[in-house]
Amino acid sequence: MDRRKFFLLTYGCQMNKLDSELIASRMIQAGFEETEREEEAQVLLLNTCSIRESAEDRVWGRIGAMKARKKKDPEVIIGVLGCMAQEHKVFLRTRMPHIDVVCGTREFGRIDALVRESIETRKGVIATGEGGNGDLVQRELSCRPMRAQAFVNIIRGCNMPCTYCIVPATRGPEVSRPVDAIREEVERLVADGVTEVTLLGQTVNAYGHDLERGTDLALLLRELHQIPALRRISFVTSHPSFLTPRLMEAMAALPRVSRYFHLPAQSGSNQVLKAMKRGYTRERYLARIRDLKGLIPEMEFACDFIAGFPGETEEDHRQSLSLIEEVGFSQSFVFKYSPRKGTVSADYLRDDVPEEVKARRNQELLQTQERVSLARNRAQVGEVREILVEGPSKTRKDRYTGRTARNRIVHFANEDPNLVGRYVPVRIVEAQAHSLIGVLQEETRTVLEGDGVLAGKGRAEGASQ
Ligand code: SF4
Repeated sequence: MDRRKFFLLTYGCQMNKLDSELIASRMIQAGFEETEREEEAQVLLLNTCSIRESAEDRVWGRIGAMKARKKKDPEVIIGVLGCMAQEHKVFLRTRMPHIDVVCGTREFGRIDALVRESIETRKGVIATGEGGNGDLVQRELSCRPMRAQAFVNIIRGCNMPCTYCIVPATRGPEVSRPVDAIREEVERLVADGVTEVTLLGQTVNAYGHDLERGTDLALLLRELHQIPALRRISFVTSHPSFLTPRLMEAMAALPRVSRYFHLPAQSGSNQVLKAMKRGYTRERYLARIRDLKGLIPEMEFACDFIAGFPGETEEDHRQSLSLIEEVGFSQSFVFKYSPRKGTVSADYLRDDVPEEVKARRNQELLQTQERVSLARNRAQVGEVREILVEGPSKTRKDRYTGRTARNRIVHFANEDPNLVGRYVPVRIVEAQAHSLIGVLQEETRTVLEGDGVLAGKGRAEGASQ
């Protein structure tokens, strides 16, 4: 067994965080030891993201900086994994000889073997095919960020043609996992203390179209809902085109499915949606929201917006602002458009919205959302909500943080670390735009009877997208 220490740095989305959990699990099972201190590691792994060029630039900087370490210590192994490995494999190996292992998005299930091969042969190793299915890796409890919560991949890749997005090129076409494999994995996680799962996919609600007829996300949710100890089930990221009546009915019939729904619109203007090739109009998007609210009145919605897409006019922008008001999103993630090499919008559309206009529109979207979020959060004051306690607050030592079933962050005064991973009631006493302040209620109800804290190691995280 190789007892070398490895350091793993993760950039990007939830999918990458899950992949890193699987990468770390595989390395540990092969005898490597994880360390949070880069300087003491003999294997340095970067799990990368290429969704935006700015995200890539940060990774390039980090890869460049690792050259000095390799020069000082030629025995150290440096591996680049994930989207950038997939996209820039040739450049990485030919122009960056200090990189030993290049491991693509469908190969990380054998990362340990690739690292070992590089150690033994003292040569560079490239794997960017489909040789190492990461979803088959058994997950190590110590690699999970929190005992009670887990991400579970259900579909990888994307078949959609969104003109600004590099994901179909880096992650490949959609491949769904069989229902049985997912159910088995979730059952194992539940036996291990998980009570909340988030099902992941780039187009998570397209799940199943490549499997046996009749298999879809609605069926999978009904299947997982039968696992008694599973208290919360959510899924991201959904595409409006696949929000079918069947899926809505399943969500309405299954009370443990989250009442927080992230449904990215990207723009409120039909002209921009068409240029993005999103495949729906503002009217259809709103109709889906209305239908789902009709079935589940308490449902909360969150959105993504891109500010300053090529050709976006002031009127288009106003349409996005009005969409925030009309739906009353509880949260929006807003990004300034920046052309991403290799995408249709970068190659064929003129990036004609000036930087300062993009920045202003970005701000206006954020400010509108903050106003709407604050009003929604204020309506919670006085209510008692059940939260899953996630851990100490990042900003105040005397506070802990938890989340409601509708994904609202609640901070509350607490000194008892045993509450981590438990469901407790809090009374909401104050509202802010991005979070709530609560007071722990007397009748603390726990679902993990006699279960102590078992938080996993925090993995190093690079700047996200
Ligand atoms: S649905 Fe569109 S934005 Fe989402 S991953 Fe696929 S191509 Fe990218």
